[in-house]
Amino acid sequence: GSAVTALEQLTRVVSDFPSAGVVFRDITPVLADPGGLMAVTQALSVAVTQPFDLVAGLDARGFLLGAAVAVHTGCGVLAIRKAGKLAGAVIGKDYSLEYGTGRLELHPDDVPAGARVLVVDDVLATGGTAAAACSLLIQAGARIAGVAVVMELVDLGGRARVEAATDAPVVAIC
Ligand code: IMP
Repeated sequence: GSAVTALEQLTRVVSDFPSAGVVFRDITPVLADPGGLMAVTQALSVAVTQPFDLVAGLDARGFLLGAAVAVHTGCGVLAIRKAGKLAGAVIGKDYSLEYGTGRLELHPDDVPAGARVLVVDDVLATGGTAAAACSLLIQAGARIAGVAVVMELVDLGGRARVEAATDAPVVAIC
């Protein structure tokens, strides 16, 4: 569809970012394009067939996408953030990165009991980030409706890692 066309035409591929040897797929030009943003928002909004009543955006490009999907579908949005950014009571989860570890945090008080949450991010790579986000949401009492990403780097095996954290479907636009 038009989302895939926008992604193919507008994604910027940056070599050696954030470190040597990494090929970074930057979708910010897609988000900066009005047709691109609408197409990607629409595609993420219908990516999973399960109903959801809340969207969770992952730090940081997932915030942009998650908020757009939430408005588009009439839901609220949660920010799942890197450590130290959220004020007040948080729960956190450490996860491994390509080099070293990261930590994600969530405000559990913002999650209604039993809320069905769609997790949204730009790129699924090793799956560590999305798997940690699902674990945090489940810990906060949510149910995962699905994980929707713009782009899946299939060689990195992220899907299996996310599927170990949740039974919910993992869907990528491309
Ligand atoms: P993972 O935890 O290895 O799956 O990495 C996914 C997280 O890192 C997401 O939040 C992405 O925003 C970011 N990320 C990893 N690789 C890329 C990339 O090539 N382009 C954009 N973001 C990436």
